[in-house]
Amino acid sequence: MAHALKDGDVLVIPCSGIGKVHGLIGREATYKVMDDLASENTATLCLALLVKGDPEAVAAVQSHRCITIDGCAKACAQKNVEMSGGRAAKAIQVAEAFRNFRGAKPGTATALTEDGWKITEAIAQSVHCEAAELHELEGTVR
Ligand code: SF4
Repeated sequence: MAHALKDGDVLVIPCSGIGKVHGLIGREATYKVMDDLASENTATLCLALLVKGDPEAVAAVQSHRCITIDGCAKACAQKNVEMSGGRAAKAIQVAEAFRNFRGAKPGTATALTEDGWKITEAIAQSVHCEAAELHELEGTVR
């Protein structure tokens, strides 16, 4: 179950990506990490808050380690974290993850197929591993 942001959490921030299956995969991977794989030490925030300069959201990315999940190379989540004074410790692009699933038919902007869920799972596992490594580094390098 997702929880409110607390000290030491890793922020997992997907792009908005409405209208593309890539965006849906990024959001579903985020939910899988937060609700299942790493529910105790990850949180997320709405990218739109960063885009409009919301002070709480800006402070959150400046004070927490961040992993961004972007649908494509435009990297809206990564760029907005960085423009807000944060740093993406890991920047994932769903389009790149597709390279490991050649020929996959992931579904649409509103519904994933079995292939789409496989890609989602792979991305979520990657984020989970990265978040675990960041927690091991907690108190060392930020
Ligand atoms: S990174 Fe790509 S898919 Fe995501 S919001 Fe930006 S343009 Fe859309």
